[in-house]
Amino acid sequence: MTLNLLMLGPPGAGKGTQAERFARSRGIPKISTGDILRDAVQAGTGIGRRAKAVMDRGELVGDDVMIGIVRERLERDDALGGFVLDGFPRTVAQASALDEIMDGRDPLIVVDIVVPELELVRRLGTRMICEDCGANAPVAGAAEAPCAKCGGRLVQRADDNQAVVLERLKVYHHMSEPLVEYYRVRPTFRSIDGAQPPDRVAADLAAAIEAAGHGAVRHGVQG
Ligand code: AMP
Repeated sequence: MTLNLLMLGPPGAGKGTQAERFARSRGIPKISTGDILRDAVQAGTGIGRRAKAVMDRGELVGDDVMIGIVRERLERDDALGGFVLDGFPRTVAQASALDEIMDGRDPLIVVDIVVPELELVRRLGTRMICEDCGANAPVAGAAEAPCAKCGGRLVQRADDNQAVVLERLKVYHHMSEPLVEYYRVRPTFRSIDGAQPPDRVAADLAAAIEAAGHGAVRHGVQG
């Protein structure tokens, strides 16, 4: 069975960090729509130019654009052996398009990372990313230290300033939180406590994925 994992959770829940770590440990690609869009912005493509203003306001890029990006990415060879999706779907329309894209493949395993709102605001306000490779810096890292991955300069993400953070959380509650209800009824859905240290979250994530995999087999869920 291929592992097709989807990470849900608000901005700042640690989805990206955990997705990266888990994907590396299993040798499968991490597909982050936020990273894809930031790369497009940096490269100055048409999609990047149109997405930048939307992202800077903390709003969502249109469903059609996002579904097209993910459909194309999931059809590439390296994603046929499993993947970790981070940041997609963010709307029910995206989730239902994803179900259609996944038709005939192994079931999605869905893990929701739960973190209290105050902790999210604190994390997003202090988060730093590498200007060159986009990696998240450890929260405890000194601001002036270089990126541990590539030596690049650490900067605040353009959409991590306070006003935009509050908008992103609002958008999450309106547009993305309904996804928890969309997926909760599936035997392959699990939620984990994301307010713990990263190693504990990683251990809970691995256990949740294992249990969800058994859930899929028990219920004979088809992809
Ligand atoms: P992220 O890095 O996942 O926090 O995404 C950064 C920004 O990219 C979001 O605030 C949105 O503006 C945009 N974005 C990323 N993924 C999606 C998506 N699935 N649907 C719509 N907009 C997205």
